[in-house]
This record gives sequence, C-alpha cells and structure tokens, in this order.
Amino acid sequence: MALELYNTLSRKKEIFTPLDAAHVRMYVCGPTVYDFAHLGNARPVVAFDVLFRLLKSLYPRVTYVRNITDVDDKIMQKAKDTGEKIDSITTRTTEAYHDDMAALLALPPTIEPRATAHIAQMQALIQKLIENNHAYVAEGHVLFNVPSMPEYGQLSRRSRDELIAGARVDVAPYKKDPADFVLWKPSTADQPGWDSPWGRGRPGWHIECSAMAKEHLGVTFDIHGGGLDLIFPHHENEIAQSRCAHGGAALANYWVHNGFLTIHQDKMSKSLGNFFTVRDLLAQAPGEALRLALLAAHYRQPLDFSPEALQKAKQTLDGWYGALRNHAVVQAEETAPSETFQNALLDDLNTPLAIAEIHKLAGMLNRTAISLPAFNRIRKGTIKGQLLAAGKALGLLQQDPEAWFRWTPAGQKTLSDADIEAQITARNAARTARDFAEADRIRKALAEAGILLEDKPEGTIWRRT
Ligand code: AMP
Ligand code: ZN
Repeated sequence: MALELYNTLSRKKEIFTPLDAAHVRMYVCGPTVYDFAHLGNARPVVAFDVLFRLLKSLYPRVTYVRNITDVDDKIMQKAKDTGEKIDSITTRTTEAYHDDMAALLALPPTIEPRATAHIAQMQALIQKLIENNHAYVAEGHVLFNVPSMPEYGQLSRRSRDELIAGARVDVAPYKKDPADFVLWKPSTADQPGWDSPWGRGRPGWHIECSAMAKEHLGVTFDIHGGGLDLIFPHHENEIAQSRCAHGGAALANYWVHNGFLTIHQDKMSKSLGNFFTVRDLLAQAPGEALRLALLAAHYRQPLDFSPEALQKAKQTLDGWYGALRNHAVVQAEETAPSETFQNALLDDLNTPLAIAEIHKLAGMLNRTAISLPAFNRIRKGTIKGQLLAAGKALGLLQQDPEAWFRWTPAGQKTLSDADIEAQITARNAARTARDFAEADRIRKALAEAGILLEDKPEGTIWRRT
C-alpha cells in the first residue's frame, strides 16, 4: 500500500507522490515564542512527528523544517507586561519548547529557522511582490493586494464576502481593499525593527513562513502542515505571497492540517484560558503517556482531553510495558512493523487503528498460546520484535520497561531506587530466615509508600503505582 494523505487543497485523500523521491521536503508552522506551549500546541508537533518518522522509513532523505516565530506583537506585549527583555523571553521560551517537545518524544526537525534570522529574505520577497504589482506601500506599511490574485481563497474556499467579513475587524484606512493584509509594518523607536526601503519596521507573520520555506525548501515543496486554525488566513496568505512572487508556482503540493485538541468540546487556547501547559502535565504523567493520549484520535478529528484520558493512556502503557517486562528474557527479532500496522499508518496516519494493533501484539505476547517451549520462544521473539517496531514508528515503547515503571510525578516524595532495593534485600533475607511476618511487614510498608512488589522466578521486581 502507498502512503495516502488527506489534502486540504483538494478536500480528498490522495496518494502521496513526492516531487523528488530521493528527497522529501516538509514545512510545518512552528510556535510563536512568548509563553509555555499548551497541549493543543503539542498536537501538531506529535502528529507531524509521526508523519516525519513514517516518511523517513519510506524515503532516503527527508528535510523537515519547523520555524520559530521570534518577532510578533504577542511577544512585544509580553515584554511590555512583564518588563522582561524580548531576547530573554524568546530564548527562554524556545528552550522550554525544545525541552517540552523532547519530553513528548518528538524528534527535532531537520532545520529550525528563526524569523529574525531571515529578515533579508522577507524583504526580498516583499520587494518582488511590489514589483509584480501584488503589493503596495501605504503609510509605512506594505500590504498584499488580495484582488491582484484572482485564485486567492482556494485553500480555505472562502467567498469574497466571507473574506471581507473576516478582515473587517481591522479595516485600516490605508488599505486599498478590506481583504488586503500586512507584509511589513512600521516600528516605533522602542519596538523591534529593521531598516527597509519602506522605513524601519518589522514583518507581518505570514511573510515570515513564505520566506523561511523558500530559503530552506525551495519554491515548491511536498508537504505543508499546521493546525486547522492556520488554514485561514495564515496558509491562504502564505500561498498568495509565495505564488505571486514565484510566477504562480505552487507553494506545496499537499496541505495537511490537524484537528483541535479540546476541553469539554472547546478548543484549547490561551485566549479562552482553558489550557494545560505541557510543562504542568509532565509533572503529573510521563511524556510518553501524553504522547499516546495525543495519538488516541485520528489527527484530523477533534480530540477531547481530560485527566481521565491521560490516566487511561498511562494505564495502556503500563500494560504494554508490562508485556515487555514479562518477556524481558525473550530475544526480540529485528523486524518491520506488521502489515496491518503499517497499512494503518499509510492510510492517512490512522493512529487509532495502529494503536489497536499494538494492543493486540502486547496481548499476544502475554498469552502462551502454544505449549511447545522452543516454538513459543521463537514466536514470542517475532511478536516482541513487531511490538517494538510498531512502537518505534509511533515514538513509543523505546525505554527500558523498568525505567517506565519507576517514573514518579515531579515533586512527589518517594523512596529512592536504592532504598527500595535495600528493602527488597531485607525482605528476601527475612524470607530465607523463614521470618514471614517480617517479610510481609516490609511488603506492606512498601505498598503503602506506593511501591508494588512482584515475585518472579528470576527474582523480585517492583514498580511505582
Ligand atoms: P500558535 O502558537 O497559536 O500559532 O499555535 C502553534 C500551533 O499549534 C499551530 O499549528 C496551531 O494550529 C496549533 N494549535 C493551537 N491550538 C491548538 C489546539 N487547541 N488544538 C490543536 N492544535 C492547536
Ligand atoms: Zn506558517
């Protein structure tokens, strides 16, 4: 089966055919760095990380670009509100973003361009648009003239009336058309700004992505991604800018958008205040459980988040890691994921189906269906191999099961690993001395401290509850 992706441009699932099978190129809009990422912001990161992993397994070279927007009015506002310097805000937030996304087991993108390092490219693009009569200068601003592009609106399929209604909120007097949008705006002396042919100023948000995508991926590339909310106006405007500057050439062939992460069916967002930061959630559950919770629904569907859903993901992983721990001695076969699993991912990243397949494999590993020990061992090696391969494709199940079971919530007082091992040794000594009351006392005391013991033929293992 070939990879199929739902393309927002055609509103259809299409077979993915890269422009160059030797080098696949993908751009995903990254964060505006002024505050900690919330779980909604993490959804595209995890969804496109699964796509990145899949593409890497199918093609020899994949370049994945995800930008950092480090010049934006929200950042300026934050600096004003807190007194913290803009540089400090963007550096600190970018670092936190890297840490949080790594905790969610997302691979770093191949290239992570920062907007402020691409001002010259943005200015060159704007200059081209002015020369082509797609943009004009007005009161220190440069605006893209929407009526200059008859195909404008193809991605979002908005009518002219809807476009104007959407733009009406900030119809500035210097706009020729209400739908026109800003490419460059003037900065006052105390605002971040760069010299330009149109005066000292700063770029609009949309032109940042057009310029960074062109710089790192060329005029036309394969996949452009982001959350559903970016279709209009952000992606529509990226397309307008890039196509009009590049003689009409397409910006990207496949437009892929993730659905919203919701809380009680409302979009998780800073403005509604109904958000959990990734950072706070990481104090409550392992990043891998958050990742699984984010993959539980198909990436295009809405996904309602709740503490219960997170607990369920953690318990599911307990079960999978439990199967791996129960078969620690079984040698995993080096193998590709099963066909059912692979086909699920190839079908527009059907992660719920892929997860169901992992569930089945973990269940099979735990069942002793065949009594012939040698045959059983071989079969278990294959199943364990498939389980690990499937896990890897989703960025899951790659840690030592013992480490998984030893995870503790941040800030919670708990016995150290060494203390627990010492208690287990004491309990074993008591058992050897047939002092079962003492052995039982130690087991109970550990249970009260949240440590569960399990006696196995090869010794006693433990886990935190
Ligand atoms: P922002 O920093 O708001 O530009 O968002 C960064 C990325 O997160 C964009 O791709 C957004 O579409 C995405 N995003 C923001 N909120 C949500 C949400 N609640 N669910 C899914 N994606 C979101
Ligand atoms: Zn963008």
